Amino acid sequence: MKTFTKGLSVALLLSMGFSAHAQKHVHGEGELLIAQEGSVLQMQFIIPAADALGFEHQAANSADKNAIDVLAQQLKNSSHAIDIKGQCILQSTENSLAHSHSDHDDHDDHDHHNVEATYNFNCKTPVLGFSVTLFKLMPSLNALNVQWISNAGQGSTEVTRNNPVISWQS
Ligand SMILES: [Zn+2]
Repeated sequence: MKTFTKGLSVALLLSMGFSAHAQKHVHGEGELLIAQEGSVLQMQFIIPAADALGFEHQAANSADKNAIDVLAQQLKNSSHAIDIKGQCILQSTENSLAHSHSDHDDHDDHDHHNVEATYNFNCKTPVLGFSVTLFKLMPSLNALNVQWISNAGQGSTEVTRNNPVISWQS
């Protein structure tokens, strides 16, 4: 399984105890890690490439490469991932697809791959939930295992295609 964690973009998530290396890989199921501290809201989606792109092999032809480029662009728009109702301003985002073309050192076709996307928001008031829109972008994605940590506490939940609303209000 390939994981992707770079730079400081997930510093808050990591500092709050998340490990991007602990996830299982189940097609149809992704992971969503959320960390909120003060006005900073950070989230990281970890999605099987089979659901994000429709394939997990390395880009073998121009159609594959085009699919990667299209998704990489779509993921830069946070509205394709979540609907946060204008409460927050996107500060930065990155995803692992931007690096896919040059990241072909191993040639194991049976390897599983994830697509990861990280979003950093600045929010005027603490956010207590939002709706996941990523299901619309990825038809085979059925559920996300969600872990969240905020100043108020921590917990986990699951969102599904039919019930995509996350709330961590106690
Ligand atoms: Zn897989």
